[in-house]
Amino acid sequence: MKWLFASPILMSALTSGFTTSPRSLSGSTVVQQQQQQQQQRAQIRVTEAHARDSVVGSLFSSNSDDADTDAESASASALASDSDTATATSSTGSAAMDWDNEQKKQSAEKEKEESGVSNDVDIDIDIDIEENENENKEPPLKIAIVGGGWGGWGAAKAICEAKENVEVTLLDALPDPTGATPFLSKSGKPVEAGTRGFWKDYPNINKLCAELGLDESDIFTSFTNSSFYSPDGLEATAPVFSESVIPKIDSPIPFLNKLSGQSFPQLPSPLGQVLATFPLFERIPLQDRASMLGLLVATVDCLGNDVTVQEKYDRMSAQDLFILFGLSERLVEDFIKPTLLVGLFKPPEELSALVVMELLYYYALAHQDSFDVRWIKNGTVSDSLILPLSTHLQENYDLEVKGGSFVSKISYDDSAATNKSSIEYKTRDGEVSTMDVDGIVLALNGKGMSAVMANSPDLAQYKTFSKAASMANGVDVISVRIWLDRYVPTRTPANVFSAFDALRGSGGTFFMLDQFQAENEEALWAGETPQGSVLACDFYNAGALLSLSDEQITEILMKELLPEAVPDFAYANVVDTWVGKFPGSVSFFSPGSFDRRPPMQGDPAVPTIKFAGDWVRMGDMEHGAKGLCQERAYVSGIQAGNILLDETIGKSRLYKHPVLPVREDEAQFKAAVTLNKQVMKLLPRFWVR
Ligand SMILES: Cc1cc2nc3c(=O)[nH]c(=O)nc-3n(C[C@H](O)[C@H](O)[C@H](O)COP(=O)(O)OP(=O)(O)OC[C@H]3O[C@@H](n4cnc5c(N)ncnc54)[C@H](O)[C@@H]3O)c2cc1C
Repeated sequence: MKWLFASPILMSALTSGFTTSPRSLSGSTVVQQQQQQQQQRAQIRVTEAHARDSVVGSLFSSNSDDADTDAESASASALASDSDTATATSSTGSAAMDWDNEQKKQSAEKEKEESGVSNDVDIDIDIDIEENENENKEPPLKIAIVGGGWGGWGAAKAICEAKENVEVTLLDALPDPTGATPFLSKSGKPVEAGTRGFWKDYPNINKLCAELGLDESDIFTSFTNSSFYSPDGLEATAPVFSESVIPKIDSPIPFLNKLSGQSFPQLPSPLGQVLATFPLFERIPLQDRASMLGLLVATVDCLGNDVTVQEKYDRMSAQDLFILFGLSERLVEDFIKPTLLVGLFKPPEELSALVVMELLYYYALAHQDSFDVRWIKNGTVSDSLILPLSTHLQENYDLEVKGGSFVSKISYDDSAATNKSSIEYKTRDGEVSTMDVDGIVLALNGKGMSAVMANSPDLAQYKTFSKAASMANGVDVISVRIWLDRYVPTRTPANVFSAFDALRGSGGTFFMLDQFQAENEEALWAGETPQGSVLACDFYNAGALLSLSDEQITEILMKELLPEAVPDFAYANVVDTWVGKFPGSVSFFSPGSFDRRPPMQGDPAVPTIKFAGDWVRMGDMEHGAKGLCQERAYVSGIQAGNILLDETIGKSRLYKHPVLPVREDEAQFKAAVTLNKQVMKLLPRFWVR
């Protein structure tokens, strides 16, 4: 759950190389060697193609009356075109092309086999060629991806789809990170560690759907409204800008009233949001809402400047920023704090001001419809998206997945100039194994990184790794699923709890899965006859709830939070529950953490180990997604995969996995940034250090 309400209140207030160290010898030597070998292979193929053409030609003439002539003819033309490609390949010297040609050759051979034509001469030639190829073929490069979240899968995709001579293995401590084995409650019902939304600007995850042949309308709900509840009841409902109409406006200004019920016009941000959200949040007095303006000024100054300025904002807590820029206490307590608790899973006093502003901009401010969000329509993120991706990579690229493998140590040999690493991992039966690899993408969370570094002195001696290990304290999360004996209607399927005492300092959300997944309701009940609503409730920054029993946590929801928000919950009985506790599992963007978060490019002294994940800094490869965000984690993985191949295979390879940028900043934001830069030439930035 994320930044559902920032935009409405915000707008309402307004109305008011790399070290080119090589894989083993030097990067360029490796590339040269590979190119020589590819050329040799291509030459062999050219010779083979000529020989084969003449042999097939003679067979043709001798079999011209045979009933199988057509099939043979198809085979022959496939081979002929194969040989053409092989000739072309020799000029490119590309391993990717070679791979592709190899595939074509194999399928042509298979076709021929299936056509039942015996061709002894051709087979002899093929055997000779294969022997030659085997003699010349360099052993595959071994790359390991440690961590199978969005970051790890992004890296696996980028590396596998490059079609280089690489063996890829993905290791994760989870028993099955592929999504093939669903997580089930004790009673066998499907559960998930947290309900995840997909925001408007997730272009790479959307593209992934298309690449996997998935129809987005089968995977995601339509964009949904979300509601915000306090102990006083419903505070506000966020609109859907891209699909919906302006809610009823009852205002003294006739022009605004006329907009009621009309489709949202696409206006420059933040004008559209201002109009649409005018009637929301009326419980918060106008002057408090107007105090949000200071935050907009700070956001332009922070995000419009370079990393030196951003680091200064990062050292400040968001709470300090709010005080400095004049945000009212009422606004912060009643609205911003609960919003951050569900967006970055911590209160403002514990969060980096930089990351808060990045999140604010990405999810709320950049475009009128930036905070439109949709959800999984059937099952979980794992089985809807990760499973098709993992199947594609395993079936088409021989990706090896080692689930239940807890990586406990990484050794790195820098003395022999091989840049080889050795990964030690423990399987569920307690067995310890090692694997030697030429490159690694570390796609771990802070907690995992810290555990690995504790036993990895070879790496911990380098600052990048030891600083990353200091990010061990992740945020605690609790996920609860509740099956009820009756349907409880709610205004919207996605909802936020705000400022309830029962939350004990945590953030809280509840999602009506029977509404999101109405078309697949039986699956929510694992085949049992559905009896009523199914809720997924998440608590973030949940340290104060962790020590409670599962029953106590369910009781807090059923007796306090849910009925206070929506009174009809008081009449429902619990049929089944599941509670999952995940201490320290989520990235924590504390003040000053920017410097400790690992750069995706890794440490200059260890060029063959890269980092991926939502907490990783992407430097000049930042693509725009921010905060705790699946799109960000996925893109960081793709980029880390690309740069690891640059390092190990070489930059001149044929295919580099593309990354789609998020939408460009709007003109008025760019203008504000330019203006701010002029002003800041004269004004010392005394509020940051
Ligand atoms: C409750 C909740 C709600 C969220 N809501 C949203 C949302 O609405 N929208 C959104 O976009 N994002 C949301 N997020 C954030 C999003 O899920 C994350 O940003 C993203 O999944 C991070 O992916 P990752 O690959 O960086 O890390 P992770 O998914 O944490 O992957 C790290 C992997 O490393 C493995 N690992 C750790 N240590 C080891 C080890 N020693 N050996 C082997 N494997 C190890 C772990 O098992 C894990 O699979 C939410 C997160 C949570 C927890």
